[in-house]
Amino acid sequence: MDIDPRTPTVKNPPERFTGDVWLDPIAAPRTDGQRMIVAKGRFAPGARTAWHSHALGQTLHVTQGIAWVQARGGDRVELHAGQTAYCPPGEEHWHGAASDSFMEHLAMFDNADDPDTTTTWLEHVTDEQYDLPS
Ligand code: MN
Repeated sequence: MDIDPRTPTVKNPPERFTGDVWLDPIAAPRTDGQRMIVAKGRFAPGARTAWHSHALGQTLHVTQGIAWVQARGGDRVELHAGQTAYCPPGEEHWHGAASDSFMEHLAMFDNADDPDTTTTWLEHVTDEQYDLPS
């Protein structure tokens, strides 16, 4: 068994996020055949990802605060700590904090055969899209 050294918290790139989002990597493939990626994401109030999709889908588990998530064409959904959302492969979506609350979630997904295609990033979520009532 290996105990991992603590890794620095990194700020997420503004090309793919709106507002302040910090990321702590937890797990990534180490051996041939492994695909699992787990990361802890912390979002300031109003912060969110851009629209994006994951080649093999994604599970999101809210650990603190209030999350807003939305799939393309669907309603915005509010999730609270302890709740889990699953995004199927290829489904375009975004996830972030509510406008008046911090949010922390665990993001869990699998690397695609070509890791560069694991996540496809799209346009930013506009304020109008973000503020839609759920
Ligand atoms: Mn996602």
